[in-house]
Amino acid sequence: MAEGYETQPALFIDGEWITGGARDSEPVLNPADRSVLAEVPHATDDDLDRALDAAERGFRQWRGVGPDERGRVLQRAAALIRERADRIARIVTLEQGKPLAEAKGEVLGSAGLIDFHAAEAGRVYGRVLMRPAGMRSMVLHQPVGPVAAFCAWNFPALNVVRKLAPAIAAGCSIILKPSEETPGSAVEIMRCFADAGVPGEVAQLVFGVPDTISRRLLASPITRKLSFTGSVPVGKHLMRLAADTVMKMTLELGGHAPVLVFDDCDLDKTLDLLVANKFRNAGQVCVSPTRFHVQQGVYEAFAKGFAERTRAVTVGNGAATGVQMGPMANPRRPEAVAAMVDDAAAKGARILAGGGRGEEGGFFFQPTVLADVPLDAKAMIDEPFGPVALIRPFTADEDAIAEANRLPYGLAAYCFTESGRRQNVLAEAVETGMLAINQARMTWPDSPFGGVKESGFGSEDGPEGIMAHMVTKAVHIA
Ligand code: NAD
Repeated sequence: MAEGYETQPALFIDGEWITGGARDSEPVLNPADRSVLAEVPHATDDDLDRALDAAERGFRQWRGVGPDERGRVLQRAAALIRERADRIARIVTLEQGKPLAEAKGEVLGSAGLIDFHAAEAGRVYGRVLMRPAGMRSMVLHQPVGPVAAFCAWNFPALNVVRKLAPAIAAGCSIILKPSEETPGSAVEIMRCFADAGVPGEVAQLVFGVPDTISRRLLASPITRKLSFTGSVPVGKHLMRLAADTVMKMTLELGGHAPVLVFDDCDLDKTLDLLVANKFRNAGQVCVSPTRFHVQQGVYEAFAKGFAERTRAVTVGNGAATGVQMGPMANPRRPEAVAAMVDDAAAKGARILAGGGRGEEGGFFFQPTVLADVPLDAKAMIDEPFGPVALIRPFTADEDAIAEANRLPYGLAAYCFTESGRRQNVLAEAVETGMLAINQARMTWPDSPFGGVKESGFGSEDGPEGIMAHMVTKAVHIA
């Protein structure tokens, strides 16, 4: 076992940790140096059928447990995550690449999100409707049933918690398939839930060939909800599979966040915030600021200031002290980003910083700034999901808004302006699930997180996160 990788990737089915047997497996790599950290076992069809059977039993049992008790179990899980945060953060960094401080922040943030859902479990309210004498109508919210959830590798702890916590709070059971590229973090988070008292048939963990697993879980009439975090094409594919049994869905898909920077912003503060956020997690964040539309009056100063700050970002192994940006998480990302940068440069973009792979050995890509990027560059159309800032000028407010709304994505958007009137116009006009004005934080436990258009639908976090696991029933009594 690699130093610090204190975990063993395993399936968790019906309360049993399963590490191998005759199953297929695949290696888990450290993206900083491509070394093999462990092998992750693949679930067989029998494993998946066992998990489905357990999820059905788990749902019948767990829906009958009071919200206060569900909340207490979740609070214990949050406390265990805090206790184990240093060890889990090291695992996150080793298998995903992000700097240790970011990993620790992610793990502690996950605990905070669980605490929110623990309290929220007791805040699912119905309605009583007045009728003619002797009659009443009630509106009830009931847990939807067993959930099949799939999530990506970019937040190996938080993505897992975002699936588990609201489902458990709502009284559902859940089978989760996290990414095979970051299984150790998921295993350690799941251990916290199990050690806290979540029954083994209520929350289960599987790994394998993603398409095989999602086809089997979504074809089963036992599964009543699909929850997915990942790319738009895979989200569309899973929607089609889920259509056959008409299940409830939450889809957290990609983004291509526009950033509208107006002449009247506080330029230095704006640049400090944006550069720090652009290169967080090497840009592999669905709400990462990506298309920077900058008003003519500050365009050159913005591009120059962005490039200067970017060149000062320290890149290296996320486990080393002082590193601000680690490698990308897997070999697909630097390859995709390199192709986009080359394409943009060939179409006339100016490379102001970075532009190449950087360090040898791991899946690195340099923090990169491109200016004057033409609209037909691939990077201005497809989600780069990497450490690349794309900068373009605009003149009129209407042009900036039209540009923000040009793509089929609608997850996150950012605006920087001191004008209150303009802030109100933008809040109304930008087609997005989340809008940050004069700041860059999008994620708060009590605030809905989700997109519109092809970025998906349904929200995680906030009261909306638990309600997305409920169905509504109207009862009319004489
Ligand atoms: P991908 O879409 O192939 O994989 C993303 C995740 O979905 C992985 O964890 C994978 O295991 C899972 N997945 C893939 N196919 C699946 C299937 N048929 N059934 C169930 N799960 C499946 O892409 P990738 O190469 O890993 O990531 C690249 C793209 O994914 C990025 O460009 C970005 O658009 C998107 N992405 C989005 C988010 C997000 O938070 N919304 C997170 C990570 C990746």
